[in-house]
Amino acid sequence: MEKILVHACCAHCLGKLLADLGSAPDAWQPTVFWWNPNIHPLIEFRRRLKAVKMLAERVRLPLLADEAYGLVEFCRAVHGRESAPDRCSVCYALRLNRAAQAARETGCPVFTSTLVTSRHQDHALIRAAGEAAARAAGVHFLYRDARTAEPNPAWVHMLYRQQYCGCVFSEDDRFKSTSTHLWPPPGSGIKN
Ligand code: SF4
Repeated sequence: MEKILVHACCAHCLGKLLADLGSAPDAWQPTVFWWNPNIHPLIEFRRRLKAVKMLAERVRLPLLADEAYGLVEFCRAVHGRESAPDRCSVCYALRLNRAAQAARETGCPVFTSTLVTSRHQDHALIRAAGEAAARAAGVHFLYRDARTAEPNPAWVHMLYRQQYCGCVFSEDDRFKSTSTHLWPPPGSGIKN
């Protein structure tokens, strides 16, 4: 079995990727890795980290987590490049470079990321960023198109599921055209 570092940004995507890797169950010995300075605000960051910890415990996988809240680091990295997809390519490179370094430091010749499970991300950019990070760190990036993978329901039962990608910009994109928490509710006839 080959050691693989699995960069994870949320429990449900981690469940999908583990299910996808599990199609070759004897091939991989995963270590879960958390480092996501792109997740805001702080309580959202804690909710996602908590769910990843609970899933790692459920499936009995080792977890390596840098729990520092990286708001300032992320904002500095995307400064001047705040629009998607430009900021996302910065975000992918930031996280995948750190994951590649962690793979090298922990003796994993291969790493991958839950980013490859998302239907909302740019897979060509993810693959390019992962492979560039791998070259720089002297490891290999495993790209899999895991968009249609499904986790074992027992793994993710009752675990927190986020409603937006992670950064404050993506939260704005997700909710700005909705009426969530708008007051007065549109069409209610209530006056301010
Ligand atoms: S939308 Fe998602 S991938 Fe793009 S910068 Fe924000 S957190 Fe990163």
